[in-house]
Amino acid sequence: MNCPDCGKDMEYYTVGLKKSVLNFLLFGFGSRSLYLFKGARPEQKIITPHERIASFRRHSCRTIVMKPSV
Ligand SMILES: [Zn+2]
Repeated sequence: MNCPDCGKDMEYYTVGLKKSVLNFLLFGFGSRSLYLFKGARPEQKIITPHERIASFRRHSCRTIVMKPSV
């Protein structure tokens, strides 16, 4: 996949959610999901806590493209 910002080739990765000690201190045990927002309204759930999705990254321009399965 080519980067939509600079047009160069992107590397394949996966994106997922990971709990850390800091997250635990800030948010407790509550599970989190990653959402795409349109203004203030959540429009699409992208990742649930135990899911990973295909992603592409161009390190030099810091662009990340995610491709959810649904
Ligand atoms: Zn780029």
